[in-house]
Amino acid sequence: MNRVASFPLLDELQRALADIDAQGLRRGRLAVQRRHGPRLVIDGVEYLAFCSNDYLGLADHPALVAAVREGAGRYGVGAGASHLISGHSEAHHCLEQALAEFVGLPAALLFSTGYMANLAVVTTLAGRGDAVFADRLNHASLNDAALLSRAELYRYPHRDLETLERQLGHVRGRGRVVVTDAVFSMDGDVAPLPDLLALCERYDAWLVVDDAHGFGVLGPGGRGTLAHFGLCSPRIVYVGTLGKAAGVFGAFVAGHAVVIDMLVQRARTYLYTTALPPLIAHALLTSLELIRSADDRRARLFRHIARLRSRWNAGPWKLMESATAIQPLVVGDNARACAASRALARRGFLVPAIRPPTVPQGTARLRISLSAAHAEEEVDRLIEAVAQARAELAASRQAEA
Ligand SMILES: *Cc1c(COP(=O)(O)O)cnc(C)c1O
Repeated sequence: MNRVASFPLLDELQRALADIDAQGLRRGRLAVQRRHGPRLVIDGVEYLAFCSNDYLGLADHPALVAAVREGAGRYGVGAGASHLISGHSEAHHCLEQALAEFVGLPAALLFSTGYMANLAVVTTLAGRGDAVFADRLNHASLNDAALLSRAELYRYPHRDLETLERQLGHVRGRGRVVVTDAVFSMDGDVAPLPDLLALCERYDAWLVVDDAHGFGVLGPGGRGTLAHFGLCSPRIVYVGTLGKAAGVFGAFVAGHAVVIDMLVQRARTYLYTTALPPLIAHALLTSLELIRSADDRRARLFRHIARLRSRWNAGPWKLMESATAIQPLVVGDNARACAASRALARRGFLVPAIRPPTVPQGTARLRISLSAAHAEEEVDRLIEAVAQARAELAASRQAEA
């Protein structure tokens, strides 16, 4: 590699990378060697992770591991083709019916990822000349979806329904789609879905709800954020992901049968891609059963959330207003957030620093995520470790000054 001469395009990339470094924004990866629940082994060292979306602790559940084996025995490993050719299996079919019934909507369609499901929904409901309205803190995939749709994108300030209503009023006689995270992934707060639905009814718009962090966790029986609010409407298109609380992989869209039919005809991330491995769909049928009967796990998760919040002593780092498993701690400065994350890692805790552009400038944070797989005593140890990390950073700043 070194013997290959550099060329201007490569130099440009290298300069851009150096720039990322200089801003303290370089991202790296950890290679996990083994896991047991939230305990991960990396480079031979065990860490307690507060960074996964495995909210119910199902990702290494023995029943899911067994279901994967059984699914592989029945279907092999790869689907071998897209859904419309020969990749669609009975497992996919049964899972779609079970998911639709679970979230209380007429029909559902599986996708390989939430990212792809969001691209599918927005590009199918909106096209050139239409308008998409998006909360500023929505997940990146929803913004990318709007750009790909070629519709005009209106982003409204976080949860600002007045601005949204004004924007909706501006665009008459065009297709309108409002898209929102149900639980915001970096803040942990919940979208005002009943008010959003009322606006969508008044202005005749679709409401696309991305429930990546609510499915399996919120609502009676973990049926998600629509169930949490008791919402039902033919204009709601629901996206649930299956790699988070469900502990597996994949995603689905649920809604009116006409919407689902149209996705099968038009959605490019459905048509032009290999089907999700049937063994995954098979395992997800078991996951759905586990979710249904996981009231105890959900109760434990919510006890952890209450414990973290009640034992948190307000210091310079503020816990954001969140009632969900996502409990962000705002540090502010990028380099300090990273230093805090490293100080926690030295104490055996994995809590990621989330920096711009994932979150707004000046709001770099430690994103703590809790899971039913954590023990109460582990939540206490995390609180203690964060206090120590904060003291360590403050001491080193004084030493520098
Ligand atoms: C994780 C996430 C996605 C993407 O889902 P994947 O299945 O991981 O691709 C979409 N939306 C939100 C809000 C998410 O948090």
